[in-house]
Amino acid sequence: MSIPQTLITQAIAWRRAFHAAPELGFEEHTTAQRIASLLLSFGLEVNREFAVTAVVGTLRNGPGPVIGLRADMDALPIQELGQCEYRSVYPGRMHACGHDGHSAILLAAAAHLSATRQFSGTVHFIFQPAEENLAGGQKMVEDGLFEHFPMDAIYALHNWPGLPEGHIVVNAGPMMASQDTFEITLTGKSCHAAMPESGADPIIAAAQLIMGLQTISSRRVSPKDAIVISVTQLNAGEVINSIPETATLRGTVRCLSPQVRTTAISIMEDMVRQIPAGFGVAGRLSYRSGYPVTLNDPQAAAAAYRAAIEVVGPARATFGAEPSMAAEDFAFMLQVCPGAYLWLGAGDDAGTVGLHHPHYDFNDAIIETGVNLWTRLIEQSCPLHGTPAQLNMTQGIS
Ligand SMILES: [Zn+2]
Ligand SMILES: [Zn+2]
Repeated sequence: MSIPQTLITQAIAWRRAFHAAPELGFEEHTTAQRIASLLLSFGLEVNREFAVTAVVGTLRNGPGPVIGLRADMDALPIQELGQCEYRSVYPGRMHACGHDGHSAILLAAAAHLSATRQFSGTVHFIFQPAEENLAGGQKMVEDGLFEHFPMDAIYALHNWPGLPEGHIVVNAGPMMASQDTFEITLTGKSCHAAMPESGADPIIAAAQLIMGLQTISSRRVSPKDAIVISVTQLNAGEVINSIPETATLRGTVRCLSPQVRTTAISIMEDMVRQIPAGFGVAGRLSYRSGYPVTLNDPQAAAAAYRAAIEVVGPARATFGAEPSMAAEDFAFMLQVCPGAYLWLGAGDDAGTVGLHHPHYDFNDAIIETGVNLWTRLIEQSCPLHGTPAQLNMTQGIS
């Protein structure tokens, strides 16, 4: 059953209202209130007990699988420079990542599935706070989302500028990288710059260590495994003629495999201990694990792909693409529940601006595809009669 155009028009209006009133992570009170009222008006049960501002709407329609669909609600601390009529009314805040669109798509899917009910099972519509940097998804997991609402599978999508409008990409494996940060403190012995033999130079140790860390990707990890280690800050010294006592390095590590991530941390610990020691300098590593690898379950990815080819056709659906080295906190949910994260193409015209850009504005033309995708995924995963159909995975895979 196709999605009524009146619902798509309504979803565009919701999206623009969210866009005009963006709220930052864990402060999405007005957005959450609006979402909760709409879900209640569609006849869903509503839970607001998770992660400060999260909203979970539940639609029960007989026995069958329990599927979660997740959207994010938060905006970014960026000043909007676009001049659309629904631009942000708050200085220094904007929906620069399209979470306004993700929420509108999920709301419209809830309205449509509740009205049509061509499935047998339960759907949890999960509106998550604080995807940007604050790990709202992790907070929902820690607050017991999956104990309170056990699910057979969970799905999320992200609009993707640079991918042709309405194309859908899903991988049976990594979609997005892990995102960790580190700080390394090097402690030597200060001395006059003209008499280096009387001290221990942390800057020389830092230089060697930075080059050493770059060999992890080239010498210690297989060339087939993606990893990025970037030292982005180096602070040391106050005067031109004195060797300082300490140097501090900071940076970030991105990986596409949990095993490579674990290996990299262990090698970094060894290097931070051993390389500075050769210069009489002590090294200490403080490593902060951030978002994990966004790792799709192969079966869930296949189910999502099956829905995608029905909605957009095999020519516009891709199963297996290059993952992104950016990160996504839906990864925390995928660690405890099988599922899949998809990209929905937002357009690849020359004028398309990227996510987190001050001129970014979610492309309303992809809302209908998003609503269709969620609807078909639920109808296929929770069929009214019999078991979910299996996809012939030799079809249409490039
Ligand atoms: Zn973002
Ligand atoms: Zn985002």
